[in-house]
Amino acid sequence: MRFLVPLLGLLASATPAAESSHAPYVLQPGHMDLEIGPDGNTVIFDAPGGIVVVDTGRHADHAEAILAHARGAGKPIAAVVNTHWHLDHTTGNRDLLEAFPDALLVATEAVEGALAGFLAEAPARARIRAADSSLTEPERARARRALVALEDRGSLVPDRPVLAEGPVELAGRRFELRLARGAATEADLWLLARDEGLAVVGDLVVAPVPFFDTGCEEGWRAALAEIAAAEWTTLIPGHGAPMTRADFMRWRGAFESWLACAASQREAAECADEWMRDAAGFFTPDEADGVRLLARAYVSEVLRAPAGERMAYCAARE
Ligand SMILES: [Zn+2]
Repeated sequence: MRFLVPLLGLLASATPAAESSHAPYVLQPGHMDLEIGPDGNTVIFDAPGGIVVVDTGRHADHAEAILAHARGAGKPIAAVVNTHWHLDHTTGNRDLLEAFPDALLVATEAVEGALAGFLAEAPARARIRAADSSLTEPERARARRALVALEDRGSLVPDRPVLAEGPVELAGRRFELRLARGAATEADLWLLARDEGLAVVGDLVVAPVPFFDTGCEEGWRAALAEIAAAEWTTLIPGHGAPMTRADFMRWRGAFESWLACAASQREAAECADEWMRDAAGFFTPDEADGVRLLARAYVSEVLRAPAGERMAYCAARE
């Protein structure tokens, strides 16, 4: 009690949060800047044993904002959860794990397949860009950052990958971990934080436009059905603003219509137009051009690619 007087100011401001039965969380928003490469959304949970970080972004300033939050909370980062291995969600792992080497990395084994497959040529490409004097210094710095992240396996590959879904305790807090096979990647994680009524779903929901680079329609549909059936009130997508259940249902409808268009004989540009109409409000006016480009390219380049070229992404379903 001898510290009571000096602490009174702090106690006064801390009381409302302390009395709340809902442990706080913070959304560190990402962005969809295709020029420099997007950052995924990060969700930061304050748990009794430390900070739990879901996804770590791509760029240095995103990682720095997460670290600043941990410093502000006066707690170590105890766990880093990756919803999937895409580099706009995992490049920051290294910054966080360097600052907090004891943090647990929670991810699926899909990243190993990605490093040997989809990302196999990425280090070589990054090395070329890092040395390309025709690029600006910020462009070369981004390439160096990608290269360092790709070459640090320990910051991407978990010691013990998540193989099954179910309840998990991280830093003294319970979460419900869910696993989606052959959806946005070969194995995606999403999680439910019951106290907050929160579903954090990574790129199973990308508000502006589904990032289909490594996607598989069948598994993705199944994952969205599971998300719809789960108990939550607010959904944090991999990119874009938080969604209510009504938002999510509308987004899911747009996703289904877009896939149906891709499976039809209609022009890819028409499918993109349809997405722009059905998904209006899920992207900003600034993002619209990029979104239209992607909504069209995913149809013509990915969803309509010869079956053999896409088997790897859907293989996890078999
Ligand atoms: Zn992403």
